[in-house]
Amino acid sequence: MTEFCFPPAPQVSLPVAGTAARFPVRRVYCVGRNYAEHAREMGHDPDREPPFFFQKNPDNLLTGARFPYPPETQDLHHEIELAVLIGRGGQDIAADAAMAHVFGYATALDMTRRDLQAQAKKAGRPWEAAKAFEHSAPIAPALRAAEAPGIATAAIRLTVNGTVRQEATIADLIWPIPEVIAHLSRLFVLAPGDVILTGTPAGVAAVTRGDRLDARVEGLPPLDVEVV
Ligand code: MN
Repeated sequence: MTEFCFPPAPQVSLPVAGTAARFPVRRVYCVGRNYAEHAREMGHDPDREPPFFFQKNPDNLLTGARFPYPPETQDLHHEIELAVLIGRGGQDIAADAAMAHVFGYATALDMTRRDLQAQAKKAGRPWEAAKAFEHSAPIAPALRAAEAPGIATAAIRLTVNGTVRQEATIADLIWPIPEVIAHLSRLFVLAPGDVILTGTPAGVAAVTRGDRLDARVEGLPPLDVEVV
C-alpha cells in the first residue's frame, strides 16, 4: 500500500440519477463562445472563430444547493451550460464516432468573475482567476446518455429569481457535441471521467447574494442553487 506524506484529496464524483454508482471526475474542460448570440454579446464574431477550451479543476464542481459568493469580484456572472460526461477515452476521435464516448449529461453553471476575466483578456493573461475558483461549477446529478435521447435539441434555460435570463436550445451550439469531442480529443487525450462544459447561450449577467438560480436542460435533472 502506498504511503502518502498526508492524506490524498478525496476523489471528486457526481451522483448519477437512477443508480447508486457515482461518476468519478478526472478533468473539467470548458468551451468558450459556443453560441452565436453569446459570442456577439461578448464582442466577438461567431463566424470566424474555431472552438477554444479552458479548464476548471475537478474540485471546483459544486454538488450542493448553496453557492458561496466568491471573494475578489464585483461582477460575478452566471453561465448555464450542458455538461457532457466522457465514459470512454480516446484521442483524435472522429466526430461521427464521438457519441460512443459519451457516458451521459448534466446541467451545470460556469460561474465567472467577469471583471477579472475582462482584466485578463485586456492584459493577455490566463483565465484561471476568473473561471477556476472554489465552487465555480455547480452541477446537477448526471443522467446516462441512453436516458437522454433528445439532448441534441433540448431546451436550455436559466431563470434567476423567477425571471428567464438565458434561453436557447442545444441545437444552437456553433460546435455540436460530437464536434466538441472531436476538437478536444485532438488537443488532449480524453479519458473516462472527463467533463466538458459546452458553452453558454446569450444573456449572461451578474448575480448577488440571495439570488436563486434555476438551471434547466430539458430532460436532465434540474440544478437549483442559491447564492449565499
Ligand atoms: Mn462558459
